[in-house]
Amino acid sequence: MLNILVCVKQVPDVNLVKIDPVTGSLIRAGVPAILNPLDANALEAAVRTKEKYGGSVTVITMGPDQAAEALRECLAAGADRAVLLSDRAFANADTLATSYVIVTAAKLLGSFDLIFCGKESLDGATGQMASQLAERFDASQLSSVCTVLEVDEDKRTVTAERELALGVETARALLPCLMTVEKTNYRPRIPNLKSWKASRTAAIEMFTSDTIPGLDRAQIGDPGSPTKVPRTYPPEKGPGGEMIREGSAAKDVEALLARLADKL
Ligand SMILES: Cc1cc2nc3c(=O)[nH]c(=O)nc-3n(C[C@H](O)[C@H](O)[C@H](O)COP(=O)(O)OP(=O)(O)OC[C@H]3O[C@@H](n4cnc5c(N)ncnc54)[C@H](O)[C@@H]3O)c2cc1C
Repeated sequence: MLNILVCVKQVPDVNLVKIDPVTGSLIRAGVPAILNPLDANALEAAVRTKEKYGGSVTVITMGPDQAAEALRECLAAGADRAVLLSDRAFANADTLATSYVIVTAAKLLGSFDLIFCGKESLDGATGQMASQLAERFDASQLSSVCTVLEVDEDKRTVTAERELALGVETARALLPCLMTVEKTNYRPRIPNLKSWKASRTAAIEMFTSDTIPGLDRAQIGDPGSPTKVPRTYPPEKGPGGEMIREGSAAKDVEALLARLADKL
């Protein structure tokens, strides 16, 4: 029976986020928070693996209290257990501090055979977390997984297809293994009403910095975060394009060629 962990993040819907032109910080007020879309693909891969081989799926997130909603979404979509790591002391964490808290807490929950992550988050989008988590879990890592082909619990291996720029590669890694998942083959399922209702009242396990034994306070939150972001700004807009509308396709082409000829 497989013990599977899925790391998920609640993110602001970036399509609705704006950047404050004066402070350069994200204006999150009033912006709905959603489950990071690529994490929904990772969860689907985990749940299908559980359905094929047996076992259980735990979802874990470090975030504010509201991130419980993202966990409930995961419970509705097939996760068995949900864990929220939330504390003001975790604020201002960079990826190093975030991965430290997640792995220290996850080790209290048991040992995991497979760990699934999204490829990147919609907001931070560093893509650094998976490798840091794999290192801290002392796990092998398969990135860009598009299909989990086989898990051999006796040989302690997982075989998966990886989506590369020029094709697909079959790779085998030792368990425990952390996989980042491509969205290609793992479209998230739509929960049925029964599981959605159950997820509304399901228990969510909470950990704070005080309830994770042995947590080194020098490695969490701001003190544990060597990355500093001096400035955030939207991309500068280049000059706008020009629409050529001369009345017919032939005239448009003629006008375009004339403009190009002017630039030679
Ligand atoms: C200086 C600095 C200060 C910051 N302060 C804050 C802050 O106060 N509050 C805050 O929310 N963020 C803060 N962040 C952002 C936070 O550090 C990152 O969002 C987080 O470390 C993950 O990095 P990422 O979003 O680039 O993840 P990526 O590496 O792009 O994510 C890859 C995958 O890792 C997993 N993952 C990512 N984040 C989490 C998570 N939190 N829990 C579980 N799994 C996860 C998911 O599977 C995700 O798909 C700060 C970042 C910096 C650099």
